[in-house]
Amino acid sequence: MLSSTAHHADVVIVGAGIAGLSAAHQLTGAGLKVSVLEAAPEVGGRMATEEIDGFRLDRIGQLLNTSYPELHRTKGLADVVLRPFSPGVLVHSGGRLQRTGEVVARTVEVVARSGEPGSARWGSPQALRGVGGAFTVARALASAPRPLDQARLSASLARLAATPVERLLARPERPTAGSLCARGVPARTVHGFLRPLLSSLLCDPALTTSSRCADLALRGFARGRMCVPEGGAAALPQQLAAALPPGTVHTGIRVTDASISSVMTEEYGELGCRALVLATGARAAAELLPGLRVPGFHQVTVLHHTAPEAPLADPALVLDADRSGPVAHTTVMSEVDPSRAPVDRVLISSTVLGTPPPQLDKAVRAHLATLYGTPTDDWELLAVHHDPEAVPAMPPPHDPRRPVRLLSGLYVCGDHRDTSTVQGALFSGRRAADAILRDFGVQPGHAEAAALSAVA
Ligand SMILES: Cc1cc2nc3c(=O)[nH]c(=O)nc-3n(C[C@H](O)[C@H](O)[C@H](O)COP(=O)(O)OP(=O)(O)OC[C@H]3O[C@@H](n4cnc5c(N)ncnc54)[C@H](O)[C@@H]3O)c2cc1C
Repeated sequence: MLSSTAHHADVVIVGAGIAGLSAAHQLTGAGLKVSVLEAAPEVGGRMATEEIDGFRLDRIGQLLNTSYPELHRTKGLADVVLRPFSPGVLVHSGGRLQRTGEVVARTVEVVARSGEPGSARWGSPQALRGVGGAFTVARALASAPRPLDQARLSASLARLAATPVERLLARPERPTAGSLCARGVPARTVHGFLRPLLSSLLCDPALTTSSRCADLALRGFARGRMCVPEGGAAALPQQLAAALPPGTVHTGIRVTDASISSVMTEEYGELGCRALVLATGARAAAELLPGLRVPGFHQVTVLHHTAPEAPLADPALVLDADRSGPVAHTTVMSEVDPSRAPVDRVLISSTVLGTPPPQLDKAVRAHLATLYGTPTDDWELLAVHHDPEAVPAMPPPHDPRRPVRLLSGLYVCGDHRDTSTVQGALFSGRRAADAILRDFGVQPGHAEAAALSAVA
């Protein structure tokens, strides 16, 4: 049964992904009656986590960053615990694992965090412990990259971390792949760090993404630490929804038609409103509102395995510079976030970008055996999730501030209006709410959120 709020809402939001929930927070915070209608039985949209045999398995290959401003600004996320990866990344190249991108990531993170309002809580980095037969950190670091390359990379990342977003967005824009060699670092660093890292951050193996978006992603990497929400990606939307006034979110309701003053639902017929926000994802938004542009998408496949022993005693993100198999990045997730696996069990999560190969699990196991330097025949596949429209593509020219106000009373938000990230989705929801409050003549009280500094 629908609550009375749903029948007499000021604002109806279609879609309870993080963009819709972010908008709902700003609007209910300003005193408006809001009704969020979600077709699925659960909130969260793409940020879904399923539970199998005590493992918590994300449907997405989620790489968040502690530097995402909206993770700290959004009041409903105050209780989310972020579990950081170890600093930098471990890159596999020429049969060796090398840690890189580390120095600046750690230095700048301290600077960035000290200036933050500090609402999102942090999981403490895990102690590195030895595991018999596995790669140890000492082994991984035994083959340290050339010090000079490392120093130049650190300097380059430090410069990027300190560069204002406006300056990055004013730079010439072209496909990222063609911009890599112009970044003032040696070709070895492009091959051994930039290319694999950006492919993973942008979910774009061919690096067709706008170089400005790549700059933003690298800037975020340099200012913070990559991390995952404790308990799974779904923890984020679930906490956002739980912090809304009771009766705001309604799951299991599919909107079939939308206009400024009402929506038609399969389950409850027509529901009226003063303003409508489409927060459905790009394709569903265009179905409800023909004429909205549908972007291209990057497909992503995530595989979860369990193994008798942790193949790496380090909560690190592992990349493959040599591209010797289908895996773009992999991690021993139970080292990063122990709550995702039953006690004493091991969870390895790996992401394949682009078209998955035939015999996917076989190809991925063979690749993981190379990356971790250990046989994987006795690993058990827990789940495979493939999303052909995981992430909206951002080729140049890409506007990271696409309008969210279509006309007074009609708004659209989601990652396709911003950057194709959790940060972008959350911020697009905030922008849509600000536009509604302005149209309603309500003082938003958070106008500073529209500042460009929130992009990265
Ligand atoms: C595999 C994968 C990997 C990713 N990796 C990363 C990453 O590493 N880092 C990062 O920052 N981001 C990543 N992302 C992107 C990130 O998850 C998304 O940007 C973000 O979750 C989008 O949120 P949203 O609210 O815009 O859309 P969605 O999460 O798509 O929410 C839209 C909601 O609308 C609902 N809906 C649709 N139609 C209707 C209707 N007619 N009626 C009612 N409800 C409807 C849907 O059920 C859904 O719940 C990844 C995504 C995927 C899938």
